[in-house]
Amino acid sequence: MKSHQLKIYNTLSREKEEFQAINPPFVGMYVCGPTVYGDAHLGHARPAVTFDTVNRYLSYLDYRVRYVRNITDVGHLQGDADEGEDKIAKKAKLEQLEPMEVAQQYTDSYHRDMAALNTWKPSIEPRATGHIPEQIALVEAILAEGLAYEVNGSVYFDVLKYNESYKYGKLSGRILDELMSGSRDLDGQGEKRNPVDFALWKNAAPEHLMKWDSPWGIGFPGWHLECTAMSSKYLGTQFDIHGGGMDLMFPHHECEIAQGNACNHQDPARYWMHNNMITINGQKMGKSLGNFITLQELFTGDHKLLEQAYSPMTIRYFMLTAHYRSTLDFSNEALQAAQKGYKKLINGLRIARSLEFSPESGADLDEKQIQQIESSIAAAFRAMDDDFNTAQAIGHLFNLLKKINSIFTGQLKYSSLGEEIFNKLKDTFITFVVDILGLLEEKSEVQEPMLSLLLKLYSEAKTARDYDKVDEIRAGLKSMGFVVKDMKEKIDWAYEE
Ligand SMILES: [Zn+2]
Repeated sequence: MKSHQLKIYNTLSREKEEFQAINPPFVGMYVCGPTVYGDAHLGHARPAVTFDTVNRYLSYLDYRVRYVRNITDVGHLQGDADEGEDKIAKKAKLEQLEPMEVAQQYTDSYHRDMAALNTWKPSIEPRATGHIPEQIALVEAILAEGLAYEVNGSVYFDVLKYNESYKYGKLSGRILDELMSGSRDLDGQGEKRNPVDFALWKNAAPEHLMKWDSPWGIGFPGWHLECTAMSSKYLGTQFDIHGGGMDLMFPHHECEIAQGNACNHQDPARYWMHNNMITINGQKMGKSLGNFITLQELFTGDHKLLEQAYSPMTIRYFMLTAHYRSTLDFSNEALQAAQKGYKKLINGLRIARSLEFSPESGADLDEKQIQQIESSIAAAFRAMDDDFNTAQAIGHLFNLLKKINSIFTGQLKYSSLGEEIFNKLKDTFITFVVDILGLLEEKSEVQEPMLSLLLKLYSEAKTARDYDKVDEIRAGLKSMGFVVKDMKEKIDWAYEE
């Protein structure tokens, strides 16, 4: 394994902690996946890109990551509490579909959008409906511990009883007394001993669409229980990293911790990581606010708030330019700046790939240049080791990019770096952009041959002094987002930044 001292901000301790895998080189990571009842939006993209980058960086460090991200296809009720309709069943009724048709449709579209963002697939992607027996077994185990009770075919977790031996609220910092006094007595809560108790299993009314037999009658599992069942099944009763959006910290993750402790007498995960939220022009994103943007709308530009389409890699790059624990504000201005930055990096990637060490005669090693390159490389990795600070790492990559561009234009000599440092510069830049940050060059199959052909015609027109033709080709390429790089000894192209 590479010797890096990785630090991770642990929401549980509210500190950056040195990362120690439970069983190196293996790392178990569970991330709460989508509830599949609608198109993926920015709120789905951020955790997907964040934990994909965590996965990529851990893999770069030679950890062997088992990344489990679930699909919630039952039990997630409106308002994220124990009342209201199941989100998927509600959509199924509206569209006159089977709930599983809804789940399948939006699982497929989620996969399509996450692939566009170049996120690696999880190692295991379990579905809640495929783990009903495991969930029933967990309810039985919690009942056997005396930390749950059954009422009218529903089973609730007894938070007060649990809190006698453990600490409910330790992840989110919520105080139990305040939670109790702040709880409203909502519909269905009459069954609970205390309004802070949460459902492990809910009795299903006859009209309920998704339901299963259980020792307590026909019903369906609670949302929080699903993640405990699937994470413990595939990663064990204690694993390394549990991730998700900050909005899931309470009650969802708090309840997962309670369930894990109730069954196994230990916290389910060592490190709890939470990505921050996304705002749109400074406002919280919400359907009722009219600023809810799906990824497909971003990719096509088909939304009243968008001035243009933004490519998947522009979105990915944009997310990486902020640290995952900072809020990220979407605006056309910020996205256009991200598009420029992304294109700069990709132009650098193309150049870096094309460069081969070819020493000039008579040039000496330039210690200052070497030292600048070495320190930018070290700083980029230090940033990643410091709680995956992609924002800072990208800043250092731009310093490396300057050196790459200078080599390309001949201002910086290969000989002044020497072969070892040149290769280190080239390899680090490529590895960082492609493997760690997961940024790809977005292009069609025919792009390279078409551009070569056009540049050949450009060059012939230039030789023939047909400057109208030269200008026409230049303008045509520009309209397609490419610039002609007409240099002394060569003609090349680049993405317009
Ligand atoms: Zn979850």
